[in-house]
Amino acid sequence: MPRYDYILLDADGTLFDFDLAEHRALQGVLEFYGYPFTPQIEARYQAINSALWAQFSAGGADQAFQDYLVVERFAALIRELGGEEDPAQMNREYLARLGENGQLLPGAEEFCRKLSGHAHLAIVTNGVASVQRSRLAASPIGPLFEQVFISQELGVQKPRRAFFDQVCAQLGITRRDRAVVVGDSLASDIQGGINAGMDTIWFNPGRRPADPAIPPTWEVDGFGPLEALLFSAPSVG
Ligand SMILES: [Mg+2]
Repeated sequence: MPRYDYILLDADGTLFDFDLAEHRALQGVLEFYGYPFTPQIEARYQAINSALWAQFSAGGADQAFQDYLVVERFAALIRELGGEEDPAQMNREYLARLGENGQLLPGAEEFCRKLSGHAHLAIVTNGVASVQRSRLAASPIGPLFEQVFISQELGVQKPRRAFFDQVCAQLGITRRDRAVVVGDSLASDIQGGINAGMDTIWFNPGRRPADPAIPPTWEVDGFGPLEALLFSAPSVG
């Protein structure tokens, strides 16, 4: 029996290969608008995008800021490229391509299949709803999840406790010590689990340095150790 009854999994960078999806979506949208897809332009986009997401996290993960940032990242890129495209339209083109790129990280599907049937599985994501819905609908792991919780639909983001309060209410989780949050982001997943009063597993295959301010309950560097951890102790009543 698994160590927890409810496994709340982040999507991007935990189950889905978000770096690859982002790379392909950006390539598609730049080519659509007639721009070259060079490592320099991709690096600039990533720098702009990362800086905006860092502001988003620092500013308390506000939904209005997320709506602003997804357009502003392309407005800033267009300014640097000297273009005149509509950044909101460019973002829509980008998101459509992102939704078509649901490549899973190696081992993710096998992991989900092994856990399925032994524990309640749910997705907890801050992603854009249309992107996450279309990727999961096309993914072999989609049917394995009892529910998919998307911040844009809940009206509140990870790491806020209110996000997880809605998750608990909808899944009927009454004992939070029987649930665990699994994700690659210290700021949203691990901090979110801490805020919600749940155990956390930091999925860290890239072995990024820890942050003493956001200590996970556990840390794993891949699906093998994650599965071993989740099955390592009998569940207790
Ligand atoms: Mg993630």
